[in-house]
Amino acid sequence: MPPQVKTRYVIIGAGIHGLSTAYNLARMLEAKGRRSSAEITVLDKGTVGSGASGIACGVVRNNYYQPAMRELMAHSVGVWESDPEAYAYHPVGYMQISPEVMREDVAAIFAQQQAIGYDSVFIEGERDCHRYMRGLFEDWQAKGITSVLHEKRGGYANNLASLGGLAAKAREAGVTIREGVTVTGFEFGRQSGAVAAVNTHAGRFDCDHVVIGAGPWVRDFWAMLGLPRAIRVKGRDGRMHDDVPMWRYWQLEEGVLEVEPGCLVTNDGGMPPVIHLDTDAPLYSQATGRLIAEGLWGVYYKPDFNFGGIQGGAMPYEVGLPAEEVAVDPYGPKSPQFVASADFADMWTSALAFCHKRFEGKHMRYRRESSGGIGCFTPDSFPVFDVFRENCTVIADSNHGYKMLGVGALVAGELLGEKSALLEPFRMSRYEEGRLHPVSHSPFPWS
Ligand SMILES: Cc1cc2nc3c(=O)[nH]c(=O)nc-3n(C[C@H](O)[C@H](O)[C@H](O)COP(=O)(O)OP(=O)(O)OC[C@H]3O[C@@H](n4cnc5c(N)ncnc54)[C@H](O)[C@@H]3O)c2cc1C
Repeated sequence: MPPQVKTRYVIIGAGIHGLSTAYNLARMLEAKGRRSSAEITVLDKGTVGSGASGIACGVVRNNYYQPAMRELMAHSVGVWESDPEAYAYHPVGYMQISPEVMREDVAAIFAQQQAIGYDSVFIEGERDCHRYMRGLFEDWQAKGITSVLHEKRGGYANNLASLGGLAAKAREAGVTIREGVTVTGFEFGRQSGAVAAVNTHAGRFDCDHVVIGAGPWVRDFWAMLGLPRAIRVKGRDGRMHDDVPMWRYWQLEEGVLEVEPGCLVTNDGGMPPVIHLDTDAPLYSQATGRLIAEGLWGVYYKPDFNFGGIQGGAMPYEVGLPAEEVAVDPYGPKSPQFVASADFADMWTSALAFCHKRFEGKHMRYRRESSGGIGCFTPDSFPVFDVFRENCTVIADSNHGYKMLGVGALVAGELLGEKSALLEPFRMSRYEEGRLHPVSHSPFPWS
């Protein structure tokens, strides 16, 4: 007989969401006088950070066109700021640099940031934007830019170091983290559809509540819960669309330019904000001179001592397979299929030179190694935070999630009966009711 364990809360996934939920739940239970290592168990088939959280670029920002996303992110940025050392967080700020087609969207973001007291500066007009950017980087040369949103908060964190810090906090608070334990399915109650136990290769875990923070593996848990592969969505056109796939995969392309990270400081020698640039100006290859892009394109980058160079990425692309056919394992850089391509390297290094003269002719320094990974997206590309089968909370962040360090505290509060207004816009019912989040002009599916 495999061993049988009783634990009140089983949390699946030792990524950013599983760990932050576990840690906050433990703190909240302790505040109620209920500290016990038998209460909360985190299960992960790999190790802490072996999913998407452990390979994330680590960018933390507020810049979202959707008001509900922005409010949620402002809350999470506050959590990052609460313990920068443990979370390996660098509060350098963040810039959204945009072309004319995005100016109105970004102006709306700025106005709403003002309304919620999120510190940012907004510059408009080609000449003023250029002057502002030259004030930061004397070699700035990007074309086609008519607005700059400079968020003074946000920045980036070192992926595995922050997860290590979070795991240490969780253990300290009494959470049991079991690595190398693969969840294989659930057992449901006889009278109700609730989850009664979580089955694993290491035995069965009887529990009262389950939280799933499984990142790109959410598709598998969705199936284990018996939830539908396709759903009904009331579209922005007001019509009901049947049979919309619940999950889709996108490939995220990221890489590193192997130069001294300190070569990208600001004119006054400081660490620069994370840069995100979108433009519709033509982009030419540094390697061959060919035209790479003439429509809207975008990149992001930062000097990063953890990655050992300038690290960043470009627009993702949709994996053109039904979700059921996508091989998530082996995940990330270990995948034989889903890693950053040679085209990405050419595009991204050329974009760095498009922005800064200092990167002209540096494309040869691109680090030739496997990088990037896939993310699992919902029908509208925004998160689903909801309870299924009465006692199973699913945190499906639609790949927005490393920065959402605060979601765990909100989910933990809900487990203890405190409804969160910040999570409310992300319930599953929004699809059928047509309460979809607005869509921006950004070339990224999560802006
Ligand atoms: C290349 C890349 C760059 C990114 N950059 C950023 C960024 O800069 N900023 C940002 O905000 N977001 C970023 N993201 C998105 C972000 O990484 C994810 O949204 C977030 O990390 C998801 O966290 P999670 O805790 O839900 O899942 P994960 O971190 O993926 O954790 C899930 C865990 O579940 C475990 N698991 C899976 N199946 C089982 C099973 N059967 N049994 C037990 N355990 C199981 C896995 O081993 C894994 O450890 C990026 C994503 C990618 C791929």
